[in-house]
Amino acid sequence: MTKWMNKSISSLHDLLVKGKVTASELVEDCIQAIGKDRCNSFEATCFDKAREEAKKITSVKEEEYLKGIPFLAKDNFSTRGVETTGSSKILEGYVPLYDATAVSRLKRAGMILVAKTTMDELAMGGTGTTGHKGVTTNPYDKTRIVGGSSCGSAAAVSQGIAPLALGSDTGDSVRKPASYSQTVGYKATWGRISRFGLFPFATSLDAVGFFTRNVKDAAYVLSALAGHDTMDMSSSYRKKERYQNYVLEHRTLKRVGYFKSVLEAMKDETIKEAYLDLLHSLSEKGYEVIQYDYPEALLDALYPTYMILSCAESTSNNANLDGIRFGPKAKGECKTYEEYMTRARTDGFSDMIKRRFVIGGFSLLSANQSEMFNRAQRARRLIVDEMNKFFDSIDYLVLPASYDKPKKIGELSTAWSTKPDFLDNILTIGNFGGYPSLTLPLGVEDGLPFGISITGRIFEDGYVLSMGNEIESIVKRKDIIAKEVK
Ligand code: GLN
Repeated sequence: MTKWMNKSISSLHDLLVKGKVTASELVEDCIQAIGKDRCNSFEATCFDKAREEAKKITSVKEEEYLKGIPFLAKDNFSTRGVETTGSSKILEGYVPLYDATAVSRLKRAGMILVAKTTMDELAMGGTGTTGHKGVTTNPYDKTRIVGGSSCGSAAAVSQGIAPLALGSDTGDSVRKPASYSQTVGYKATWGRISRFGLFPFATSLDAVGFFTRNVKDAAYVLSALAGHDTMDMSSSYRKKERYQNYVLEHRTLKRVGYFKSVLEAMKDETIKEAYLDLLHSLSEKGYEVIQYDYPEALLDALYPTYMILSCAESTSNNANLDGIRFGPKAKGECKTYEEYMTRARTDGFSDMIKRRFVIGGFSLLSANQSEMFNRAQRARRLIVDEMNKFFDSIDYLVLPASYDKPKKIGELSTAWSTKPDFLDNILTIGNFGGYPSLTLPLGVEDGLPFGISITGRIFEDGYVLSMGNEIESIVKRKDIIAKEVK
């Protein structure tokens, strides 16, 4: 157990302001905790640089909320001078020349980067088992997954290794592992946080996200990250806000919605009971709890639509990984560019990535485009239109963030489901519409955690966080740390 790193940002901030701890002590504590990681959560580290930065911090003022506090970043955030691989063989040894904007903004706020975290290869996946360093396990049970793709970030915050870790969320990659690791996982409105320097997976769905130990911390972090960036023309010009004020002033909206078909499809009794209990508590607190009949056909369309669109975008986004521009050279002699590139990609990507590129390439072929890619685009439109209709009369969608225990590593199958359960893919709604979405702890079943998710209208990040804070106080699980592995 570490001395400091299992605390929240807010507690550490208080200690720094009062001079009870120094940034250097925090960084040392974080480095030690990384040494004791039980889950295979880490890629490259930057201990020397972190120590150097910490030394420069001699005092912290009340308003310098994040200053002097260590953080981690998923390995798909470019970090200047620190190897960044996206947990893929194809990028081993690649050292970026610049920081992603999310990283540089945290540094600008005085935070200290200590290490990079493992992920599913190139962020494609939800198990945390496909990165080049192997499986990242669940802090609560080492025989189970912690979920992905932001597996290392979730496992690290859950173990009390750092109070903040950056992640990315294209389908549910922050919010699902948060549910499995008893952490708070936030995905901001699309365009609210610059994606500059974040390796693109599916641009129209990708969002910067992060893990913290409580909702108030998440609001402060968002305030540091939000705002337009001239390096990302898709980042919003909308004025950024002080998101923490929504939380501190308890500014919530009043109408909470849930989907009838979700409730009917839920099988796990413990999760269902905790969910119904929460909805009941919300109504007792004066919130209007409303059932919504979201069409099941659209819920069934979530997975195929996500797969076609994300694979298509990812095939195109990753075309630059050709073994020439970045990463290790292809082995052996090659006569042509095509031969070289084919070898580099054959050796550099795992089967899972290749499968996704085949789907992406196939759906983008001009002969298939209207049947596959364009059709998926139309399905996305319908999914989002229906969600916007929901938001015409309801302020929040509150759903369980996971519907089952995290899977046993030995029971994972690489076969793709032909009859996917919509419950497994429901958080992708947040990415299709670009909505702000938050996961926070709801309960524990047989020693394994599960979370609750809250989704709101675009750019209502403050209201989503404030509702998160409200639910957090109902669930009464602040400053949560994983227990020792069984
Ligand atoms: N599980 C989803 C996938 O396999 C989500 C990935 C993500 O959000 N990066 O693509």
